[in-house]
Amino acid sequence: MNILFPHENIRKIQDEFINDILLALKEKKHLLAHAPTGLGKSAAVLSTTIPYALENNLTIFFLTSRHTQHKIAIETLKKIKELHNTDLKVVDLIGKQHMCIYPGTETLTPQQFTEYCKEVVENNSCQYYTNLKFNNKLSFETKNLLNKTKKEILDVDELISSSKSCSLCPYEISILKAKEANVIIMDYYHIFSPAIASAFLNKTDKTIQESIIIVDEAHNLPQRMRDHLSVRLTSTTIERAITEAQPYEQAKKYLEEIKEKLDNLSSNLQEERLVKKSEFHIEEYGDVILELEKIADIVREIKKRSYIGTVVQFLQAWQGQDEGFARIIAKNKFNDRITTSLSYKCLDPSLLSTEVIDSAHSVICMSGTLTPLEMYSEILGFKNPILKSYSNPFPQENRLNLLIPKTSTKFTKRSMGMYQDIAREISSISNLVPGNCIIFFPSYQLRDAIDVYFKSLCKKTTYYEQKGISKQEKETLLDNFKKDKEMGAVLLAVAGGNFSEGIDLPGDLLKSVIVVGLPLSRPDLETTELINYYDQKYSKGWDYGYIFPAMQKTIQAAGRCIRSESDKGVIVFLDERYSHENYYKCFPKDFNVHTTMLPLKRIEEFFK
Ligand code: SF4
Repeated sequence: MNILFPHENIRKIQDEFINDILLALKEKKHLLAHAPTGLGKSAAVLSTTIPYALENNLTIFFLTSRHTQHKIAIETLKKIKELHNTDLKVVDLIGKQHMCIYPGTETLTPQQFTEYCKEVVENNSCQYYTNLKFNNKLSFETKNLLNKTKKEILDVDELISSSKSCSLCPYEISILKAKEANVIIMDYYHIFSPAIASAFLNKTDKTIQESIIIVDEAHNLPQRMRDHLSVRLTSTTIERAITEAQPYEQAKKYLEEIKEKLDNLSSNLQEERLVKKSEFHIEEYGDVILELEKIADIVREIKKRSYIGTVVQFLQAWQGQDEGFARIIAKNKFNDRITTSLSYKCLDPSLLSTEVIDSAHSVICMSGTLTPLEMYSEILGFKNPILKSYSNPFPQENRLNLLIPKTSTKFTKRSMGMYQDIAREISSISNLVPGNCIIFFPSYQLRDAIDVYFKSLCKKTTYYEQKGISKQEKETLLDNFKKDKEMGAVLLAVAGGNFSEGIDLPGDLLKSVIVVGLPLSRPDLETTELINYYDQKYSKGWDYGYIFPAMQKTIQAAGRCIRSESDKGVIVFLDERYSHENYYKCFPKDFNVHTTMLPLKRIEEFFK
């Protein structure tokens, strides 16, 4: 079988990856690949899976959650098609709501959007949907658009704009195109969410069994699956639902009963506690859901969103299984206002992923931070996959990884003195580095506490990541940060936040990354339950539920520094716990971490 490689030369490390992919495909196995940035993952995986899929009549589902990765995949596919003259049919799609051109839908929550779209389709009140067909057959406009774009590889933005110009629903057009496609680029949910996958597969006549699934940035998959299965009901939502139900006596009565139930559950509650399913039981549960669902439909006919609909979705999910879930009631304080929330939290991503993995021809999970591979294999439910870790393709001498075990953000060690020590350490490093530096903290709170001392010591312009920063604000901040590269600036951000993933600052735009402390999860009930769950299931509760996820965030943040072959930079891990065996073992083998108490000397020498 010929590889359809999109570039002139295949590098040695890519060749290794390609051979492993081939082995997985031929043996109908799965591959989990820790493949650092710069390896050329997309080119290697697409050039290998495409000829195999064409020969064996399989469809490739390329799953990614990032817009930039969609673009990279599309560019790679265009090159493959051009260079090898293959009859490749590709569709690029994202979530339905993000493709929707119906005015006003962008402000809805995902749940509200799903209900709203369903409603307007059923009522024939979305012209973009009704225009798709005429007399139960594809309309002239639809056929025309499909024909016109048949041979082209369009990215999702191009697909939206060409559909919009014909007043046709872009998502439905992409579904029609997907029927013929060999490669479909989309989000994890299109395959791993049972409801979305079943609708998508039915409409496109595709099956998981006849597919090769490529999961890009696969380190995100477990949490995305957990989030997808988790639901939450807040006292605010119920209050709004009651207001919404004013004209509907029965529905209002039911909602008031639900509110009373929630109030009773949270009386005498200090912070949070576990709840049994039976503790939140409402008489005539099924009738309540039916009545509220009916009223939610009426509300949605008048306005786009319905809080009653949100309550219904929670009630339906609450009836689910106990195994792999935690039920938690909590009191939350926000802007001096106390609210109550009842959560049904998923702990086990394999509840969604196992069936898909078992059915597909091959699943290839790849990421620059898929480490430790064994953990991802176990928690996603793989059985005997190929696990491969590839070495960093960039020159070792361009990277200096330092571990400074002088300070700690451990809860019991936090004090003003410790914050001053940390501020002194990070300011002396960032002042010395010739260029831009990003400092990642475990939380906004700690960042602000340390910044009290840092700001008077730092000699460079400082930028701050704000909680809930918009996409536009983030881009503006990055643009200004880049402009400061000559004088050097410092961005104070949070590990696991907006700047620790999905940003590229290649060349001389970023010279150093400092990770302050360990970005461990809050030791709340959810974390405790996750630890207990993985302890029972694999006897690895602390590793899988606490330590490894924190180290994954650290490595992800550190990965911002070196983005291309010519990048040169210093990465600092500032916490004594990084030198402890249970954390240290999580660094990738080729990280070459040097422990030092005299970092300035080493940094100075490195940049000479
Ligand atoms: S049918 Fe399409 S255009 Fe209409 S609301 Fe749904 S997603 Fe939007």
